[in-house]
Amino acid sequence: MVMTSLSEEQIAFQDVINRAIVETSPVERAQKLDAAKTFDAELYRVLGELGVLGLGVAEEDGGSGGTNIEQVVALRALANRATSMAVFCVVQFLVTRLLKDNATAEQKRAFLAPLAAGRQKASFCLTEAGGGTDILRAMKTTARADGGDYVINGAKMWISGATTSDFYVVLARTAPGKTDGVSMFLVPSRAAGITAREIDTFAINGYDTCQVFFDDVRVPAANLIGTEGRGFRQVLATLNSERINAAAVAIGIAQGAMEVAADYARERQAFGKSLAELQAVQHKLANVATTVELAWTFLLATAVRDDNGEPVDVASSMAKLAASNAAKLSADVGMEILASAAFDTASPMQRYYRDHRLYSFAPLNDEMCRNLIAERYFGFGRGF
Ligand SMILES: Cc1cc2nc3c(=O)[nH]c(=O)nc-3n(C[C@H](O)[C@H](O)[C@H](O)COP(=O)(O)OP(=O)(O)OC[C@H]3O[C@@H](n4cnc5c(N)ncnc54)[C@H](O)[C@@H]3O)c2cc1C
Repeated sequence: MVMTSLSEEQIAFQDVINRAIVETSPVERAQKLDAAKTFDAELYRVLGELGVLGLGVAEEDGGSGGTNIEQVVALRALANRATSMAVFCVVQFLVTRLLKDNATAEQKRAFLAPLAAGRQKASFCLTEAGGGTDILRAMKTTARADGGDYVINGAKMWISGATTSDFYVVLARTAPGKTDGVSMFLVPSRAAGITAREIDTFAINGYDTCQVFFDDVRVPAANLIGTEGRGFRQVLATLNSERINAAAVAIGIAQGAMEVAADYARERQAFGKSLAELQAVQHKLANVATTVELAWTFLLATAVRDDNGEPVDVASSMAKLAASNAAKLSADVGMEILASAAFDTASPMQRYYRDHRLYSFAPLNDEMCRNLIAERYFGFGRGF
């Protein structure tokens, strides 16, 4: 249904992923796993076989190659039907990108290659209970050098996948300061002193969201990623691609909700005709389709520019904001059109309505996207 042109190769790639999702995780199965708060291990295995988990990582590092474009195509397709797996892949692509850009050859062999091949899973541990948006002020987790090791103490909050991951990428303070003084570490999830606890969340149910406690967790100095004190800057360098990927998930949710609503409108009868023949319903869906198409077109253009090495800090924030708005509108209209049918937990509509909320505040909330656009697009003074 979505119109934006992709190359023949990209369309073929998209078809393979769509087919794999439909065959492996049809809607009934996706709904059951969501209700049971269960990760789709079978879909994960299939995505590993298709090379989706290694997208963006060079073949010599154990990946399957590809660019931002392949990542957003895969993420949109996944979010349309299996949203929790799309969120998993956003984390996967973030961690593989951080390791690709900053890890040593030895770290790449030990951590990046098994991750990209789907043999291991990873979590990204940045947010803390004191705040996600202003994380630099909120960060209390420390890493103290001790002999040839670092000793990590503190706690992380809202960490995706932490009870099932094999290792974590952890941001911790190694020195006082603001942007500098934060370092990034590879931490095996089974290291002594780690406790991961699942939080009972209301959405993204197929992917655990967790609290992680670090109590004198010792890692060798060889597990430092990149340069000591530069960890947050290393993360900042990946923010544009993370926003682009988050936008792709929001658009996938928007598209999924739109398709379910349009199908329902064709079938459902009222006053002697289908809902799809009522102009009020047509206009709602026309607005949704326009919003979704504009968001996707702009997102693809931004992903191409990012692949070409152009600055996309403003564009990626606009793309994320447009995608978040599209998801909000589409899920809301979908709930209206399905009415009582959307309340059935067997319907994917209520899942879209819950799941889309994540991308209004993660990885960067919509207000901060607007702040950034105001500051850098118009040159206004900082508004916060
Ligand atoms: C399901 C889920 C999965 C997650 N996975 C991970 C993960 O894997 N790793 C990780 O590190 N984190 C993860 N997070 C955390 C997520 O990144 C944070 O929730 C996000 O950064 C927002 O932080 P916060 O919730 O502390 O909100 P806050 O920072 O407290 O902000 C609350 C609200 O205040 C407003 N606000 C804040 N600052 C401003 C401002 N300057 N101007 C205007 N308005 C403002 C915004 O409306 C914002 O939404 C996850 C969260 C969820 C719910």
